[in-house]
Amino acid sequence: MASRALVWMRRDLRCDDHAALYHALRRFEQVYCVFVFDTDILDLLPTREDRRVDFIHASVLALDEDLRQLAAGCGTHGAGLLVRHGPAAQEVVQLAQALGVQEVLTNRDYEPEAIARDARVAGDLQAAGIAFSDYKDQVLLDRDEVLTQQGHPYSVFTPYKRAWLQKLDAFQCKAYPVARYAGHLAALPKGEAIPSLADLGFQPSNLASLKIPTGSRGAQLLLQDFLPRMAAYQDARDFPAVKGVSYLSVHLRFGTVSIRQLATLAVAQARTGCEGAQTWLSELAWRDFYAMILWHHPQVVTQSFRPIYDKVQWDDAPELWQAWCEARTGYPLVDAAMRQLLQTGYMHNRLRMVVASFLTKDLGIDWRAGERFFAQHLNDYDLSSNNGGWQWAASTGCDAQPWFRIFNPITQSERFDPDGKFIRRYLPELAKVPDRYIHFPAAMKPLEQQACGLQLGRDYAHPVVDHGRARERTLMRFHFMKNPD
Ligand code: FAD
Repeated sequence: MASRALVWMRRDLRCDDHAALYHALRRFEQVYCVFVFDTDILDLLPTREDRRVDFIHASVLALDEDLRQLAAGCGTHGAGLLVRHGPAAQEVVQLAQALGVQEVLTNRDYEPEAIARDARVAGDLQAAGIAFSDYKDQVLLDRDEVLTQQGHPYSVFTPYKRAWLQKLDAFQCKAYPVARYAGHLAALPKGEAIPSLADLGFQPSNLASLKIPTGSRGAQLLLQDFLPRMAAYQDARDFPAVKGVSYLSVHLRFGTVSIRQLATLAVAQARTGCEGAQTWLSELAWRDFYAMILWHHPQVVTQSFRPIYDKVQWDDAPELWQAWCEARTGYPLVDAAMRQLLQTGYMHNRLRMVVASFLTKDLGIDWRAGERFFAQHLNDYDLSSNNGGWQWAASTGCDAQPWFRIFNPITQSERFDPDGKFIRRYLPELAKVPDRYIHFPAAMKPLEQQACGLQLGRDYAHPVVDHGRARERTLMRFHFMKNPD
């Protein structure tokens, strides 16, 4: 009987340069691929209209087609993606048994709940006489590949990055030549069909109207758009009104693009001395860094990376919290950023830092609340990067912003959205506010408000806090850090 394997795809929705798929195709004669719409995750979503589910669904359809074409190119017809809807841990074990495979292969996930789930699946498969193996695919360098000379994980980014860059050689970036072995993709059993979004209990979100490209092809379109801009990344990346970043994060999140492909391109440009490429490569290093931190320190999901910071007494301030969530803080850059998140599911990196700092250091609200809100709304939500970003902004994390550094939301706005272009894009109610007031309309006198047709308190919120006073309160809140013992 032919040897058979099942590749369980999760956050790796592509069939080019795919570690687990490559290993399966090389070692087994017949290889099936499955994706499970996991009800253990979907049932927890607060709404039935979720851009991420839309993105995944569209990308699953594209992956099915790509697998079909790949197999057809080798003369196998009727291959494609098996799709299930149910608790993933059970579905995978049942399917593996029904197909009679000898092994289930998958790409490694670093989130604590995924690790626990995979351990359960491995145990259940073992009980059924089926092997389970996982591979590095999501990151460039794995949890234990970049360690200090003493063999410990790094907790400071700069030395980590130095060591990371030294290890990042051609071998680490090499693509897995999946197509070479695609003749081993198996034809699907009869009667297989991919459920529609409605079958999954979801409605279409506004993803399509936002024109966010999905699937591997979507990722390649964004990449081709970004490549000529990579050289300018260094200068343009901090300005949200400018097209300065890659917008690839959602594709990295769901694996519709290979991190090795991105690194290969960035390394090639970086070697020519291109500062933009070097900086962009550093961002990919931050991504690996936070995945490594989560793996070694899973307690960060609920606790501060540095335990002493769990002494911080955060405020219980439901009205301020609502104002932040609903983009009504009276600080235009913060509110425009929150509107961008609510309307599109994306937020520019500079703005993530600004709104996270505002929530924790101006409103005195626990970073965990903001972290959860982002988890609910970000298309690219990724536990490790999100947790890392929030703990960085709140000063509770590894290599975080020092506690006494507090972003001023007005000067951030003046520096990074100097003519208010981004603010006006997301806060049309401020369209006619003169440039000199766009960063803080509360400074306008009543007659000036009248002249531009804006009434504060009616058309746009009064500031919910005074930044200067909020800053003083935060310094007091962290005061214990002056004598931490
Ligand atoms: P680019 O600037 O083009 O960067 C390329 C890639 O590098 C990104 O797609 C991302 O994978 C990685 N990257 C860039 N910056 C960072 C960073 N600071 N940390 C880790 N990886 C980075 N990123 C997420 O992918 N998911 C999150 O849930 C997330 N939450 C964040 C929360 C906060 C409070 C902060 C401050 C940052 C967060 N980030 C998160 C990091 C960063 O903001 C996004 O990765 C970036 O804005 C995505 O846009 P892009 O793809 O155009 O990035």
